[in-house]
Amino acid sequence: MQSSVITVEHLHKSYGSIRAVQNLSFTVAPETCVAFLGPNGAGKTTAMKVLYGKADPDPNSNTRLSVFGTDPRKNELTIKALTGVAPQEDNLDLELNVEQNLWIFANFYMLRGRRAQARINELLEFMELGEKRRARVRELSGGMKRRLIIARALLNRPRLLILDEPTTGLDPQVRQLIWEKLRNLMRAEGVTILLTTHYMEEAYQLAEHIMIMDRGRKLLEGEPRRLLAEHLERYVLELRDPRLQQVVERDGRLNGYRKDHAGDRVLYFADEMPALERLIDGVEQRSYIVRESNLEDLFLQATGRRLNELQ
Ligand code: ATP
Repeated sequence: MQSSVITVEHLHKSYGSIRAVQNLSFTVAPETCVAFLGPNGAGKTTAMKVLYGKADPDPNSNTRLSVFGTDPRKNELTIKALTGVAPQEDNLDLELNVEQNLWIFANFYMLRGRRAQARINELLEFMELGEKRRARVRELSGGMKRRLIIARALLNRPRLLILDEPTTGLDPQVRQLIWEKLRNLMRAEGVTILLTTHYMEEAYQLAEHIMIMDRGRKLLEGEPRRLLAEHLERYVLELRDPRLQQVVERDGRLNGYRKDHAGDRVLYFADEMPALERLIDGVEQRSYIVRESNLEDLFLQATGRRLNELQ
C-alpha cells in the first residue's frame, strides 16, 4: 500500500506580487481526512488547485508534488481519474435540472447508459436529493446545491475527495448532514479527504489531522485534540464586554491566568475550571461564558487574529 496519497514539498505559488502559498510541505495518509484551516486569503484554495492541476506552482527546483504517485504538473488526467473535486464556487449549470447536471459529468467520466443511471440514482439517494431530481438548479437552496456538487464529485467513485469549503454559508442542519455523509464515505468506502475550511468546528468534526494556515504559510499541524493539549490551557473565560475586565481583574486576581483579546471580547485561559469560576464572582451571568478552549483560540494565539478576519 502507498505510504501517502499526497506528498507536497516546498510548494510556492505567487500571483504577481501576492505570495499565495509559501514553502508549504505536507503529506496525506490513505483513508484519512486532512483539513486546511485558515481565514480568507490564507492560501488554502490555491494549494488545493495546484494538487488537481488547476494552478501552476512557481518554478522551484525544490518543489516536489505527488498525488497517487503522479506529479500533477505532468499528468493531470491520471489524478483526475482517481480524484473528485468539489470547488468552492457553485459551478453547476443553473438552467439544467439536478439529474442533468450529473449526466454531464457522468459523460466526462465515460459512464453511460444504465450504469450511469444507477450511479446517479445511488448518489441522489445518498445526498438526499431524490425528490429534487427534476428541479432546476436555479430553484435549489444553497445547501442542496452544495450536496449536488459533492454528489457530482463522487460520480467516478474517487479514492480521493478534495473539498473546498464544503459547508460555507450553510445552516447548521445542512452542515451536520454533509459531515455525516462525509464520515460515511470515509468509513464505508475508505475515501481519503482533503478539505479546506474556516470553520474550526468543521475541522474538528471531520479531520484526524489539521494544518493551520495564514498568509500563505502553514503555522501549525497535528491531530486537533493533541494540538489543543500541547498549545493551550484547557479552559477559557470569555467576557463579551471589555469594560468588565476591571471587575474580573480587581485586587490583582489575574495572577496565574493568561489573557488574550479577540476583537472586543476578552479571554482568560486556565487549566482548571474552578480557577476561572473564581474570576467571574460578581459578573452578571449573561456577560460571560466559561468553555473549553478550541481551535479558534489556537489560531488567535498563533496569529493574533481571528479565523473569520479578512486579510
Ligand atoms: P478563502 O477562504 O477566501 O477561499 P483561501 O485561503 O482559499 O481563502 P486563496 O483563495 O488561496 O485563499 O488566496 C490566497 C491569496 O491569493 C489571496 O491573497 C488571493 O487574493 C490571491 N489569489 C488567489 N487566486 C488568485 C488569482 N487567480 N489571481 C490573483 N490573486 C489570487
